[in-house]
Amino acid sequence: MYRITFQTRQRKEMIDITTEILKVLRENKINDGICVIFVPHTTCGITINENADPSVRMDMVNTLSSIVPEYGKYRHTEGNSDAHIQSSVVGHSVTLIIENGKIQLGTWQGVFLCEFDGPRTREIWLKMK
Ligand code: ZN
Repeated sequence: MYRITFQTRQRKEMIDITTEILKVLRENKINDGICVIFVPHTTCGITINENADPSVRMDMVNTLSSIVPEYGKYRHTEGNSDAHIQSSVVGHSVTLIIENGKIQLGTWQGVFLCEFDGPRTREIWLKMK
């Protein structure tokens, strides 16, 4: 298993981590297989979406914040219930196909770490087979 650490800078943001994943893939010389990426945090998520136009990720963060607002009738006393809920909405893992030494993504797709309660130091775990 491989770990990559990221430092997030805002309370909510989506960080394009595609390049970092490709680097691990290249270092491990895996030609064909599967790559599972897992986020071991309860207020963070991982997803695949458009990385060409940055306004897409801004729309996603803003819409998730309007669906699950920061202040609501929450019982959790830490003050980050919105982040916990958004984390589960987005999910904690993605699976990628590796073929001919490359991660198979659509033309406009990238992999994003979704921070919902930053800024913090975050980790992703990767397993390639
Ligand atoms: Zn909490």
